[in-house]
Amino acid sequence: MPRPFVALAFVFFAFIALAPAAPDAPKPEDFVTVQKGTLPIIISAPHGGRKKVPDVPERVGTGLTNFQTVRDENTAELVEKLVTEIEKLLGAKPWVVIARFERKYLDVNRSREQGYESDKAKPYYDAYHDPLAAACKAVKEKHGRGILLDIHGQAAFTGAICRGTQNLKTVKLLKDRNGMPAIRGQNSILGRMEKLGYKIMPPTDAAETAKEEAQFTGGYIVATYGSHTAFAIDTIQVELGSNLRAKDKYTTTATDLADAIRTFHDAYLKDEKK
Ligand SMILES: [Zn+2]
Repeated sequence: MPRPFVALAFVFFAFIALAPAAPDAPKPEDFVTVQKGTLPIIISAPHGGRKKVPDVPERVGTGLTNFQTVRDENTAELVEKLVTEIEKLLGAKPWVVIARFERKYLDVNRSREQGYESDKAKPYYDAYHDPLAAACKAVKEKHGRGILLDIHGQAAFTGAICRGTQNLKTVKLLKDRNGMPAIRGQNSILGRMEKLGYKIMPPTDAAETAKEEAQFTGGYIVATYGSHTAFAIDTIQVELGSNLRAKDKYTTTATDLADAIRTFHDAYLKDEKK
């Protein structure tokens, strides 16, 4: 190549390499709310997002058996209120990851293979799971144990809360250490919610072998970070009925859930390795 062209080519590639991204290019981290915490408590809300992801096409779900694109209405807002209330009651911060992108572009409660279809969605998927994995590692390292509540919404049992632990697999350590009372007793999160008047499925006085509702036994998040895995965090998918997430009800639900988390924290998460 003649010398002037080499110089020109160099200038051209240098320009491409150094050119700043367009100012309006979406940043994946702007589509996820992340808070680092100090408590052994992690709150995740993957399905309440309302934002369009401009450079990612909507998913079509070819060949998928459990393909869902519907938002878990008001769960992002409910979790914001929940976090505020936990901070008031415990005087410290939980770890938080809230999706702001709409589920129809990607579903972070699915495996990578099932959660998105365009490579352009990958950075958004990572923007959710990277901080969630980091939270689990940090909690485990600092406290030796912890709880992750993955907050969802369902409309099959409108007034009820369905427990999703893959039939106790994802709370293995909690169950081994403290038995079923830590999962459904009076100082457990769901036991306390029942005491506050909520219907829990399966009911807290059901046989220990009672199965969780088949479609709400817990998805990818509780399965990935649960205490049966190397992350070793007890994980519960909390499926809130639509009445509990209604516009005029979700702040009450969040306030009660914060109370239940405080009860559980004081009974089972205090005085651990610092
Ligand atoms: Zn959901």
